[in-house]
Amino acid sequence: PPRRGRSLGLKLSPLTIYTTNMSKRTPLIAGNWKMNKTATDGIELVKAISAAVGIDPNVNIVLCPPFTALSAVGAAIEGSHLALGAQNLHDKTNGAFTGEISASMLRDLHVTHVIIGHSERRSIFGEDDAFVNRKVHAALGATLRPILCVGELLAEREANQTMEVVRRQVEKGLEGVPAAKADHVIIAYEPVWAIGTGKTATPAMAQEVHAFIRKLLTQQFGAESAARILILYGGSMKPDNADALLAEQDIDGGLIGGASLEAKSFVELVRSASKSVAG
Ligand code: PEP
Repeated sequence: PPRRGRSLGLKLSPLTIYTTNMSKRTPLIAGNWKMNKTATDGIELVKAISAAVGIDPNVNIVLCPPFTALSAVGAAIEGSHLALGAQNLHDKTNGAFTGEISASMLRDLHVTHVIIGHSERRSIFGEDDAFVNRKVHAALGATLRPILCVGELLAEREANQTMEVVRRQVEKGLEGVPAAKADHVIIAYEPVWAIGTGKTATPAMAQEVHAFIRKLLTQQFGAESAARILILYGGSMKPDNADALLAEQDIDGGLIGGASLEAKSFVELVRSASKSVAG
């Protein structure tokens, strides 16, 4: 569909999004509203965010409302610096899948990003790595940018299985994705024990896993492509801990749950990300 001039800097050509300089990945702040906000609430929120942020070349912003608010939020952000993401999709193109939404339906609403494999989808709705992988392919096939979520449970961290779990989720989640499509992939490392709990990984703990993920991406896609892929942190990222997390070399932004539901906290996170580049 025509792009209608939306989403400055977020068009799908990788060359318009990233420079090739490793230290110059433009950070991304993505808001995951989960099952919150009606369309009416969503319009109000994005208008407040857009008015506060204006146009900022140092940071990209994606808002992921519930499906029911995508159309209204999409219209409200037209011509702004904000882009539209969805929280899920089905891997099939169409058919008898009651209650599901396909990639082309999202594209038709000018959605550019889609969260895949969020821990709530994995744990509450039983999504496994193979399903997650099919969804990644469905997204890429429709030129949607998948935000692939990976992360360990508390018991797995305590059993020293973090890297093993993350390796499995990244490798299986991206199985069969060719290097030519690497620039469209975004990873979100979200330790499950930090999601919605107020507990955050320390910057050093998060960086260790992010660096490991970049190593896995290097093995699959080569160093140059891996250096361009955004790896977001998610898990109770808030204005008071964001600067330290975003200062880490391989933390390229945030996937934000709770703090994305209010303009003030979300805009503060956008400013932190922008500052992490500028300063
Ligand atoms: C999330 O669910 O992706 C998330 C990071 O949530 P929160 O920021 O509320 O921990």
